[in-house]
Amino acid sequence: MAAVVLKAGRDKSIRRRHPWIFSGAVAEVRGKPEPGESVAVLAAGGEQLGWGAYSPASGIPVRMWSFDPATQVDRTFFRERLRAAVAARANLPALCHTDAWRLVNAESDGLPGLVVDRYGEYLVVQISAAGPEHWRPVLVELLGEVVPGRGIWERSDLAIRNREGLSPRSGLMLGNQPPPVLEIHEGPVRFLVDVVGGQKTGFYLDQRENRARAGAYAADGRVLNVFSYTGGFGLVALGAGARAVTQIDAAEPALALAQRNLSLNGFAPERAEHRVGNAFDLLRRLRDQGERYDLVVIDPPKFAETAAHLPKAARAYKDVNMLGCQLLRPGGVLCTFSCSGHLETTLFQKIVADAALDAGRHAVILERLGAAADHPVLLSFPEGEYLKGLICRVA
Ligand code: SAH
Repeated sequence: MAAVVLKAGRDKSIRRRHPWIFSGAVAEVRGKPEPGESVAVLAAGGEQLGWGAYSPASGIPVRMWSFDPATQVDRTFFRERLRAAVAARANLPALCHTDAWRLVNAESDGLPGLVVDRYGEYLVVQISAAGPEHWRPVLVELLGEVVPGRGIWERSDLAIRNREGLSPRSGLMLGNQPPPVLEIHEGPVRFLVDVVGGQKTGFYLDQRENRARAGAYAADGRVLNVFSYTGGFGLVALGAGARAVTQIDAAEPALALAQRNLSLNGFAPERAEHRVGNAFDLLRRLRDQGERYDLVVIDPPKFAETAAHLPKAARAYKDVNMLGCQLLRPGGVLCTFSCSGHLETTLFQKIVADAALDAGRHAVILERLGAAADHPVLLSFPEGEYLKGLICRVA
């Protein structure tokens, strides 16, 4: 039996059910486990703490499948985990009004390295670690069985796979190839999603509830949606009665889809404007032209990919939030996000506070936001929490 033995004293986080073992915690690897193979995890004294997936190339050489030594990591194990993930979403209030959600949220669903998103009749799978890569054929078959649909598409085209010794990959896994654009809906608003060529698995499902929360402040207003991707926040705002929205994104294909989403929903073309370009430049230009808005949404990409990027990321978050404040009419609403896991909620709040100060504006927090409920966070795995947002009234 292949096993990974931990250094003395390095079993604490595993006993606290944190699912990662870092390379610095490993004393010895017994046997010759292949990448992705299951290994017994042993404390220094020899006590077995559970089972994990071995990944020799990774800075995280073991990700735990189970904290119970009696578990058999086999087909039945994965069937049960997938069924549990599906069942956990069956009665979620947040999902009553949509046909697209995250079905498997990796570590937080007991399946480290595996993400599965459901878009209507299609599934999109993202494998980011050696464990689920090893079990890939089994996982695909089980998904077809547990969640019958039209097809399963893979979007494991992730640079982080290199850190696991895996190369990026995408393509058809099972059934039919998804059409060039799929249609999903969030409440009354319909979206076209490109699961093959779009960002992430095609759509930012984690922001579903927040689009509705922000939309609640949009009625009759003029909305600026910064980092709009395919128009999410802007379209929900229009559905909630916003007068007009300006969508800004650097990705031309995303804005082309935003434009199509506008007509798909029957919104008059003059209610939306689409601007391709660098948000930082475009916001400065709009500010200098004297444009002002009732609601500004700022949903940037992950500025801090690693902890080392934090200082630079903090400056970018502050700059864009300062511009956001300056672009609001007095009493307007700022809805701002960070999806950088390395940036903690308290620091993010401090950055937004500094941004408001620099803009010479007085701001209060109305609401605090996080990822939607189909992206649960395992309590013992704080790394799973990455998205945070604030809705602020800016005087
Ligand atoms: N709010 C969106 C998701 C935004 S993701 C939604 O609800 O669907 C972040 C977006 O920022 C991506 O679409 C990316 O293309 C865009 N982006 C990244 N850097 C940018 C920049 N410097 N200027 C403008 N857009 C940028």
